[in-house]
Amino acid sequence: MKLAEGETCIRNGQIIDGLGGEPVENGAVLVRDGRLAYVGPENACPAAPDAIMLDARGGTIMPGLVEAHFHPTYFNVAELQDLDTKYPVEYVTLLASANAALALACGYTAARSGGSLFNIDVWLKKAIEEDVTAGPRLASSGREICGVGGLMDWNPDFRKIGMEGLVLLINGADEARAAVRTLVKDGVEWVKTYPTGDAASPDVNDHHTLCMTFEEMHAVVATAHNHHLKVTGHCRATEGIKNALRAGYDAIEHGTFIDDEALDMLLERDIPVTPALYFEKASVDRGPEFGLPQKVIDAHQETLEGGAESARRILKAGGRIGMGGDYGFAWNPHGDYARELSFFVEYVGFSPLETIKCATLTGAQIMGRDDEFGSLEVGKLADVLVVQGDVANNIRLLQNRSDFIAVMQGGVVKAGRAARERRNN
Ligand SMILES: [Zn+2]
Repeated sequence: MKLAEGETCIRNGQIIDGLGGEPVENGAVLVRDGRLAYVGPENACPAAPDAIMLDARGGTIMPGLVEAHFHPTYFNVAELQDLDTKYPVEYVTLLASANAALALACGYTAARSGGSLFNIDVWLKKAIEEDVTAGPRLASSGREICGVGGLMDWNPDFRKIGMEGLVLLINGADEARAAVRTLVKDGVEWVKTYPTGDAASPDVNDHHTLCMTFEEMHAVVATAHNHHLKVTGHCRATEGIKNALRAGYDAIEHGTFIDDEALDMLLERDIPVTPALYFEKASVDRGPEFGLPQKVIDAHQETLEGGAESARRILKAGGRIGMGGDYGFAWNPHGDYARELSFFVEYVGFSPLETIKCATLTGAQIMGRDDEFGSLEVGKLADVLVVQGDVANNIRLLQNRSDFIAVMQGGVVKAGRAARERRNN
C-alpha cells in the first residue's frame, strides 16, 4: 500500500491515542511520508511551513479502527444456507471487494478476517495491498474447519450439493491436519475452526455443543503453528473454550460461557477474545422480522447475556478484548461495524476509552501488527481517523461515517469529507 509523500498536519482536534490514556485537547498529529512524526499539543508541532493543513476543529483525532472479526465475503445473507449455494465465487469476490471498501469508509483501516468463502480473502488482501481496490489492511482467513455433523455441516447429504466454498469438514486428527495443509497451500494467515455450536442451530448444534474433539483441535494447532499460521475458533460452550486454550489457540472468538478455570487459562497465556456481541443483539431485535424461530431468538438472548458477562470479567481481570461484530447478515449488515462499540459502552459497561483501545491497539495486536499501527505513536503508519465531535463522550459518533472528516491509511486520505473535497477540486 502506497504511503503519502511530504507532510500533512492534522490540527485543532482532541487526540485519543488508542493506548487508553485521557484525551489531549488542542492536539495535532504530524504525518511525514506516511508515518506519524509528531503526536501532541498543537503549539509544539514541528510542521514545515509548506505542510498540508487538515483542520479537525471540534473533532477527534484517533487511530484507524480495527475490525477483529470481519467477513468480507459474507454478503448480508438472510440464511446461513445461502453462504455456499447462492452465488458463484466470481460474484462473491465482487461483493467482498465492495464490503472491504465500505469498511474503510467506515473508518476501519485494518481488519482480521473471521473466515472466508472460497479463498477470496487471500486475493482480496493482495488487491488491497497493491492499491487495486480500497479496503482495510487485511489478515486473511480461508475456508473454516468444522467436524462432520457440526454447526457448519448443514447441507443434507441426500441433496448431493457439492459445497466447496464455506468449510472443510473433518473426521479425526488426520483429516484435521489435511485441512490445515490445504489452507497452508491456499496462503491464509489464520485458520478458523468451529470447536462449538451456536444459538443459530438449537436442535443438534446449540451453543453448549462441541463440534470438534480436542484431538482434532490439537492437530489443527500443531500443523498450523508448524507452518507459522495462527489458529482461532468459534467458542461458545465452556468446554470448547477450554479445549481451545489447552490446544494452543492464538485467539478465541466469542468466548461466550467462560468460567473461573477458563478465565485463568486465558489470562495465563494472555489470549485475546473477540466477543462479537452486536450480532447477538441484532439477532434478538430483528430476528422476528427475518423469520428466525423463537427458540433461536431465545438462544441468542442467552449467548448475548453470557457473552456480555464474560467480556466484562475478562476486561476487569486484565485480559484483552477485540472489537469485531460478525457483520454480513441481513439483520446485521456490512457498514454497521461501529454499532459493536456503542453496544459495549451502552450495554456491556466498558468506558468509551476502553472500548476504543479494544477497537484499535488490541485489534492490531490480534493481527500481530501492533508495531506498525493501532495507536497514535511516532514512527507508526499514519492510519488515522478524524471524526467530527467528541468521541470520548459520544461513542455513537463512530457510527456516522458521513460526518467523518478523514479516514487515512499511510497518510493518504481515503475517505471522509477531506477525500470528497479533494475529489471536487
Ligand atoms: Zn464469524
